[in-house]
Amino acid sequence: MTGIYVHVPFCARKCPYCDFYSVPYRADTAEQYTRAVCRNIESFAGQGIAADTLYFGGGTPSILTGEQTGRIIATVQNSVQLCDPEITLEANPVTLTEAKLSELREAGVNRLSVGVQSADDRQLEFLGRLHDFTRAEKAVRDAAKAGFDNISCDLMLGVRGQDIPSLTRTVERLLMLPISHLSAYMLQIEAGTPFDCDAVRRETADDELMCGLYLRLCELMTAAGWEHYEISSWARDGRRSRHNMKYWTLDPYIGIGAGAHSDFGGRRYSCPKDIGAFISAELQPTEYDDPPDRAEEYVMLSLRLSHGIDLERLNSLPGGGRYAERIGKQAPVMVEHGLMRPTDRGFALTDEGFLRSNGVIVQMLV
Ligand code: SF4
Repeated sequence: MTGIYVHVPFCARKCPYCDFYSVPYRADTAEQYTRAVCRNIESFAGQGIAADTLYFGGGTPSILTGEQTGRIIATVQNSVQLCDPEITLEANPVTLTEAKLSELREAGVNRLSVGVQSADDRQLEFLGRLHDFTRAEKAVRDAAKAGFDNISCDLMLGVRGQDIPSLTRTVERLLMLPISHLSAYMLQIEAGTPFDCDAVRRETADDELMCGLYLRLCELMTAAGWEHYEISSWARDGRRSRHNMKYWTLDPYIGIGAGAHSDFGGRRYSCPKDIGAFISAELQPTEYDDPPDRAEEYVMLSLRLSHGIDLERLNSLPGGGRYAERIGKQAPVMVEHGLMRPTDRGFALTDEGFLRSNGVIVQMLV
């Protein structure tokens, strides 16, 4: 089934490490943007599309009003067949007032992804976040009170001042919250951002510390009984992100909004990162990618997942046979080195392998 992604490119303030497409929030622009999103969604009506996930990503989707979010959800409901949908909204803790949370529940949002990032206020300040941990903790607890039983938190690895004991404290505090999903990201210094300078490079984790932090996180989450189902994602009670799984298993998705990507009708395409062009066009402008090599994508994406590569599926994809042959030769060597493990259907990466996934994937493809 198809997933629907809506990009909401507004932020209250730009975080100095972030290179996602976003612009400063303005109420009038957000309203024009909401109307353009609805117009684009309506254009899919009557095509017999069935979807089971809707994901609001950003930017800061929780900066939209509850009414605007509800209008977009209702438009999706009226335009495609929504079947038992997972409806996720990425949220900045400062936007999650009690009133907003109940509006979002009423609008049909049933999953929140909250950008907590750390339980250490000095680390949050370094990241330029607008919230401290007390605010983030309150937002998550208020969300649970408002009826959200599927809450994810984001955690950043490699921040200035984060060592193994500090990460351990953050994870322990996150695990005390009513959450069922955790996504962890390694801080990357993106070109052209305020963090792109020697001072920040010197102060943030080097490769050795980053590896130590990641493996410590894996250890803590395993000890807590969570499922490490994707390289940077953990779930409990089976609460995997159904929407993100679509990206990793090559399911189709339709992206709406400036900067949104789609993989639909056998083609990959995107809408340019230009909010003005998106708002003023009757239908969003589209830039098509070169035809994807699905077998290569399958190798890269399935190795992100704990269930790994299914060799039968790989063989069924055009051109998959040559990758399957190469994996048949390379994977046993990786198993010997502790980077891969055999599964019922093929091979998967170990935690050590996840850390070195880029190198391992190159070995499988070239
Ligand atoms: S709130 Fe999120 S999307 Fe916006 S600038 Fe910060 S990290 Fe980037």
